[in-house]
Amino acid sequence: MSFNELALDPRLVKNLGELNFTLMTPIQKSSLPHLLNDKDMIAQAETGSGKTLAFGLGILNKIKVKNTRPQSLVLCPTRELAEQVATELRKIGRLIPNIKVLTITGGKSEYQQERSLAHGAHIVVGTTGRVRKLLNRKVLNLEFVETYVLDEADRMLDMGFIEDIEEITDYLPREHQTLLFSATFPDNIKELSQQIQRDDVIHVQEEVSEKDLIEEVFFRLDDHKEKTSALLTVLGEYQPQQFIIFCKTKVISDSVARELAREGIEVEPIHGDLDQRDRTSVLSRFANGSINGLVATDVAARGIDVKGLDLVVNLDLPFDPEVYVHRIGRTGRAGEKGVAVSFYIPKEEELFDRISDFRNAEFKVQNINDCESHPYDIKPLMKTLFISGGKRDKLRPTDIVGAIVGEAKIDFEAIGKINIFPVYSYVAIKLDQYHHVLKSLERGKIKNRKFKVGHVR
Ligand code: ADP
Ligand code: MG
Repeated sequence: MSFNELALDPRLVKNLGELNFTLMTPIQKSSLPHLLNDKDMIAQAETGSGKTLAFGLGILNKIKVKNTRPQSLVLCPTRELAEQVATELRKIGRLIPNIKVLTITGGKSEYQQERSLAHGAHIVVGTTGRVRKLLNRKVLNLEFVETYVLDEADRMLDMGFIEDIEEITDYLPREHQTLLFSATFPDNIKELSQQIQRDDVIHVQEEVSEKDLIEEVFFRLDDHKEKTSALLTVLGEYQPQQFIIFCKTKVISDSVARELAREGIEVEPIHGDLDQRDRTSVLSRFANGSINGLVATDVAARGIDVKGLDLVVNLDLPFDPEVYVHRIGRTGRAGEKGVAVSFYIPKEEELFDRISDFRNAEFKVQNINDCESHPYDIKPLMKTLFISGGKRDKLRPTDIVGAIVGEAKIDFEAIGKINIFPVYSYVAIKLDQYHHVLKSLERGKIKNRKFKVGHVR
């Protein structure tokens, strides 16, 4: 089932397409039909399962922009989470003009928040302490709230916010939808649900386990030297758009990256020897789709927050089975199967046994010679443009998008991720539009100023 089969505002559906969110995650699939039907709900799913988008669509689908009083309240356990949720909601709602999402959290100026509220806000995302305070001071008015969300409800209860929650809930109008999102479902969540939700509350739970979503394939090779050619065979077999190859050492990762590059494959090595700027460049270009593959060591991969890769390859098996699980967890897109391929040689047999034990699985070991060999012929979808201005020049993503759309007259769907660093910025552009955008920006201006533009090495 895809998003456009839901009763959603067409602008939300269009934006989901632009964000490349084509398939629903399991929790979105099970929750959205009820959620859009105004049901109260407890949705239980692990971190990273896409809960924000689920309730975000529910909220945004109901907002009446003309009414500038809060129509939705989202409570989060921490300021950081509140900020993240607000950012995500703005992203999901960006095609609905004039939608205002306001964060009401501690550590920020109360006076500013009061003023912003006076100017009007459709969605308030906050932490319990500050929300309660502004309610008591009668600065925050919740009488028009239709959707009430408790995000990470289990953590809020763990942190002892139950009294705040009870008090805040008392300010809501009689009729409203209450959505409880939680990673776990302990007794105190059940009690809270009975206390604040309707009797016909629906409980949905993520069912698909990681095991079902990742296909694990093992190849036994005779010698370490065979790994590179086996790798080319695997890339040819699976034709992944994006992949990570994990290696034991930085020497191996460098040499593997070099050999793949020699075959015309767009990969970069990433390991502890890169300086900060190169590391940022490689990671940003990978995250924005300008590179097909990374050849990484575990240390270097630690900070890589990329999920949903088509393929992860363990060129060398890790010593620690937990590291194996962590590595392969980067594959598996929303609702789609990911593939994790691992090589091992006789010396690594013991590591293979350890992983099988840890996974509690009997892996079928395959022979690489049974794979037909095709060339890998996938190119990146995007290319990264460099702009010689950043945060210090007060450039914001909208300035860059505005300049590109204005100067190059292209549809903004051709623009991908934008990274604004202190003194420079990156913009991902669809490959076939890249040259045109580059030429247009060389001639034109951004925010009425001239900047240098060029390729990112
Ligand atoms: P949770 O709150 O369940 O821990 P999030 O809502 O923060 O998870 O989502 C995790 C990531 O998955 C976010 O980066 C989000 O943009 C992304 N995401 C959510 N839904 C989809 C989808 N249908 N397709 C692709 N990515 C998605
Ligand atoms: Mg969340």
